[in-house]
Amino acid sequence: MPPENKAWLRCYRCWSSDLEVQVHYEGIHRIDPQTGERAEVVDELQEAVVQCLECMHDQPHLGFRDGRVEPIEDRWERMIAGTPWVASCTVTVEAEDVETCSGPDAGDALSYAAFGEFGTREFFTHVRFHKHDGEKIVVHLLVELYARSLEEATQVLEEAARGPLAITSLAEESRPPAAAGQGPSH
Ligand SMILES: [Zn+2]
Repeated sequence: MPPENKAWLRCYRCWSSDLEVQVHYEGIHRIDPQTGERAEVVDELQEAVVQCLECMHDQPHLGFRDGRVEPIEDRWERMIAGTPWVASCTVTVEAEDVETCSGPDAGDALSYAAFGEFGTREFFTHVRFHKHDGEKIVVHLLVELYARSLEEATQVLEEAARGPLAITSLAEESRPPAAAGQGPSH
């Protein structure tokens, strides 16, 4: 398949196709008693992050399986065809679901409590502050995400939120400029 047909195989922010994948592999294998070779897998864990070499952003619309980068369904079309939307919002979560709310990891922990993996992997999430309310924590956030319409942006936020969500404002931003020299002739 010519590369120009793979609309998803590029950076969702700057459209560069200059990508690299960082693969972390952890495996436990049996040892073959005759040869000493690594034999069947007892347990394995592979984590891969695709990154753009042009703008250095992670590419959450791309996964890595069997030695090949693949699009993540339900996500890549929205991110490639979409524009950035910025939401000011709150998510109310159970205090016990927040790993830590102070120190250097607080931002990530509160983002994860509010939006799960979307909060830490896909969205650009900035925790402005948080308030304790009994057993609950109200997390005040600024979130940037990619979507094709206001309705889709709202829906993605609602589905990602792990507690009651209140959106104060949601506005479309202009797209970051495309990487120079990209396109089929490059
Ligand atoms: Zn890029």
